[in-house]
Amino acid sequence: MLTRARARGVGGFITINTRVRKFDAIRQIAAEHPDVFCTVGTHPHNAAEEADVALETILEKADDPLVVGIGEAGLDYHYDYAPRDVQADVFRKHIDAARRTGLPLVIHSREAEDDTASILEDEMGKGAFTAVLHCFSSKPELAWRGIDIGLYVSFSGIVTFKKSEDFRELAAKLPADRILVETDAPYLAPVPNRGKRNEPAYVADTARVVADARGIGLADLAELTTANALRLFNRFPAEAVGSVEGTAGL
Ligand SMILES: [Zn+2]
Repeated sequence: MLTRARARGVGGFITINTRVRKFDAIRQIAAEHPDVFCTVGTHPHNAAEEADVALETILEKADDPLVVGIGEAGLDYHYDYAPRDVQADVFRKHIDAARRTGLPLVIHSREAEDDTASILEDEMGKGAFTAVLHCFSSKPELAWRGIDIGLYVSFSGIVTFKKSEDFRELAAKLPADRILVETDAPYLAPVPNRGKRNEPAYVADTARVVADARGIGLADLAELTTANALRLFNRFPAEAVGSVEGTAGL
């Protein structure tokens, strides 16, 4: 999978932790590949089972040089797998971890625009942190409220779907220095791979659609999103990008 992605010019990877108790398995993937790094955190789906994970535990694991971000954490009101107050508590704990470590928080938000924005604004008032609204699939208002407090917005394969005119419009309008593209496997494979298991090679297809929406070339978009990713994920070593033989330039 990594070889196929490198061949399409994807030069660095962040694999996302969804359960702190399963962090070691995620870390192992990063340890085996020089261009792969990871995050640490509890997905809102798992917020109830990991409500007892202490902030100190997250901070301890985040001390690892292979960890470049906190999360993913946030609110998911589509599935509501965990009670909403528990999701909110766990979300705030991860914001605190991001603030204390200086690492960016990867935010998952689904059908929870108002509460996500309110919590982020409230927490930003308590002390600065950086974050990305990952796999953006919410109403545009959440993106703009995020931008207003300095956050980034990341587009997944959703932006390539036929019905996603609104997301393409948003991708065109957001400030150039705040947008990212991402894989978000295994679902949401971009056109022309819809229905297949998603994988990082396909992020090039997502990048193409965002480039077209903004009226720029793919190479320029790649340069932009790579620079944004490295600015946001400030512990990801720039020299690791494209460091494995067989990585095509983009
Ligand atoms: Zn997510």
